[in-house]
Amino acid sequence: MTDIKKYLTSVGILVLILGILMGVANFFIISLTQIFSLGINTVVISLILIILCSTIVTYRVIKGKNVNSNIMKINFKIVSVLFPIISFIASSFGMSKSEIRRIYIKLNNEYIYSNKYNFNPEDIIILIPHCIQENSCKLKVTNDIDNCKKCGKCNIGELAELNKSVKVKVFVATGGTLARKIIIDNKPKAVIAVACERDLTSGIQDIKKIPVLGVFNKRPNGPCINTNVDIVDIKKAISFLTGKVY
Ligand code: SF4
Repeated sequence: MTDIKKYLTSVGILVLILGILMGVANFFIISLTQIFSLGINTVVISLILIILCSTIVTYRVIKGKNVNSNIMKINFKIVSVLFPIISFIASSFGMSKSEIRRIYIKLNNEYIYSNKYNFNPEDIIILIPHCIQENSCKLKVTNDIDNCKKCGKCNIGELAELNKSVKVKVFVATGGTLARKIIIDNKPKAVIAVACERDLTSGIQDIKKIPVLGVFNKRPNGPCINTNVDIVDIKKAISFLTGKVY
């Protein structure tokens, strides 16, 4: 099953649960007070309609159809609220949370790509996870990416090169706490975050006031060890945020 099908299945289960709850509430409450029952029905039906409209928009965005930027923004806020429930339902029914997280990150990225920016490269931060560094390399790139000797064994060398040539700030973060500190200290206008689905989701949820473009790292050796990133994806994100081609 594709990511979007799993997302749709989880939303379908959520709507079904809401429908059953409404039926049960009506069965027990309708005899007590009609106003109370009417109130519950109105709330649940409105909730179901909002979820269904949001799901239609989500489907269109994921399928690359044209969606108005304001509608994308409202939809992303709705999905952000529903996200913990939908991912809980997905994992309860044996689906991977990562697939639901991928939908969330794609919605975030598509919304950002529906806007226009022309930031200076110096105002952009690229946050990369420590597991991009070759595991056997002992150089302390978390303190300063310029400590990299650019031996070519991992992507850190290419990212250090981008730091020099394009002037974007590149930081290697060992976790969410350090990533947050880097953002507070540097006050960027935009962030390009490279990470796995879980870390990107929490990062995007944490940073609300500036655009955060998520780029998935590749994990040919399994999670958290010798991961890598496609530098073309990073350049594409920088080009979009600066309005210049790199
Ligand atoms: S590219 Fe840099 S960080 Fe990566 S292994 Fe070589 S020296 Fe170490």
